[in-house]
Amino acid sequence: MPELGDAEGFRRSALRLAGALIARLEVPDPSVVRNVDVATLQRAIRGSVIGSACRHGKCLLIPVGTSWMLLRFGMTGSLILDETGNVSRRFERLSIGTDRGWLRLVDRRRLGNVSLARTEPECAELIGALGPDALRIGNPEFIAQLRSSRGSIKSAMMDQQRIAGIGNFGSDEILWRARIRPDAPAASLSPAQWTSLHRATRSVMHLTARAGHTPRGRTWLTSVREDSRALCPRCSTCLCRSEVNGRTSVWCPECQPPSSLATRA
Ligand SMILES: [Zn+2]
Repeated sequence: MPELGDAEGFRRSALRLAGALIARLEVPDPSVVRNVDVATLQRAIRGSVIGSACRHGKCLLIPVGTSWMLLRFGMTGSLILDETGNVSRRFERLSIGTDRGWLRLVDRRRLGNVSLARTEPECAELIGALGPDALRIGNPEFIAQLRSSRGSIKSAMMDQQRIAGIGNFGSDEILWRARIRPDAPAASLSPAQWTSLHRATRSVMHLTARAGHTPRGRTWLTSVREDSRALCPRCSTCLCRSEVNGRTSVWCPECQPPSSLATRA
């Protein structure tokens, strides 16, 4: 599932076409276009020059002439740079054709979408519901955004209106590094735990953004989480799985003790 790091990778693909002239827009699946019809989108962007793409959370904003296209990637979406025209077009939903190549939105499960903003206020409105970006958020704001939640810390972290960019895998990775159990109530965290959590969030977000995806390696929970008998990469204890807000959470019972024990420690 695309998270902040993946969206950062898509941003870098879009940046490769900054300055390119849009010659055509192909939309094999018109249902991905949300707030306008396909003909309106085509009229708005054809003949425009692509600007420097930016990212907020898991969303990508691509300036096109005086407008912006906002791309959301859902569960399985990705943005592929096709400079030769030879990339597979399986699950292609929308493609922007320029004088220097194509940007293709592919999405197997069709949960991603594209919106058009013609003015800055429209643009601000499209991303307005999202919280601050997880890569840039400072410590006081990080705590303020999450501490007011009545739910678990994991569900608060995944709430895009609180903080934008952290998904299911990202929240598990961060909580494992901060040694906090995913189902711990957000309101129960100690000052030391908030510090650890913010530090782990910054670290994971920076490493995933730099890689353009979640890196795989011996020190990553994400690398082993899908193995049915996965062991903790830190202490080799059998990892646990549980449901938090309908999503499978993976955690280590040794490294992430119940909050009462963590408070005593
Ligand atoms: Zn462990």
